[in-house]
Amino acid sequence: MPTLPQTIGFTFDPLDRMSEKRDDAAFVARLRDDAATRFLLFVGNVPLVKRTAGGEASFDALFDADEAAKLGVPRQTVLLGRDADERALFASTFDATAEAAASALDGVPVEAVELRPIAMQGLVAAPIVSALGEARSMLDWHTRHRFCANCGHPTDDAGAGWRRICGNCRAQHFPRVDPVVIMLVTDGDRCLLGRQPQFAPGMYSALAGFIEPGETIEHAVYREVLEEAGIRCADVRYFASQPWPFPSSLMIGCFARAGGTEIAIDQNELEDARWFTRAEAAAMLDGTHADGLSAPKPFAIAHHLLKAFVQGE
Ligand SMILES: [Zn+2]
Repeated sequence: MPTLPQTIGFTFDPLDRMSEKRDDAAFVARLRDDAATRFLLFVGNVPLVKRTAGGEASFDALFDADEAAKLGVPRQTVLLGRDADERALFASTFDATAEAAASALDGVPVEAVELRPIAMQGLVAAPIVSALGEARSMLDWHTRHRFCANCGHPTDDAGAGWRRICGNCRAQHFPRVDPVVIMLVTDGDRCLLGRQPQFAPGMYSALAGFIEPGETIEHAVYREVLEEAGIRCADVRYFASQPWPFPSSLMIGCFARAGGTEIAIDQNELEDARWFTRAEAAAMLDGTHADGLSAPKPFAIAHHLLKAFVQGE
């Protein structure tokens, strides 16, 4: 299976999803009862993690079946797949508060921590960050798709949590992935970065936007850069991609060459956009920029686009 640099969040060591086995209910039940099987547990969209004795990753997100059972009946369970140790992983979410979950798991030092800080700070091992991302997208999809989009009737889950079926019109509904282009536009030795009002102070990043129906990746890059910064670009090249589980996007990282340099910002999208030299971009990645400007951290694909540019891409 192709792997990307470990530092791009949510991409490291993906599971064997065993998709051909999802409709084999007996097989899935056997896996769930296997003593080696582990569970990722959520309250709503927030993972539960156990504090460990320290080291590189200071939390553990894997629970055994006995621990999972203490939380009662889950609202939803999904078979995520099998890890490198041939161990099955399931994800379950519960209608409980973090306090109630901690109380039910009496004696286990458990707390609810949002996935974003877990991923940004590397609080659990990189492969588990990837599995938590898969789990969060899937569990959130179930929460928001309990009714048929065709007829409005309640739907039931099927296929080990990988589809929902309408009991009335029999329509099948599958988990969605929303593609987003994220692109570093370059003009020789300079690159174009922008900032949205909600970014941390001083942080600039690559421009990004959702792909619309009927568009290619190249068209979406061209349209978004023109809309947001008034720059026409060409020579779109694919770089790498990253699942982004907030709630279920796929970030498609690209480079593009600027056809002009006059920036006209769409104030609804960006509060600023400017050209940065390679040296400035390097300083922003290192946290040494003279004006205190910064770039996204290594768990985000924007960091790796910028790093490739700095390194002479
Ligand atoms: Zn229906």
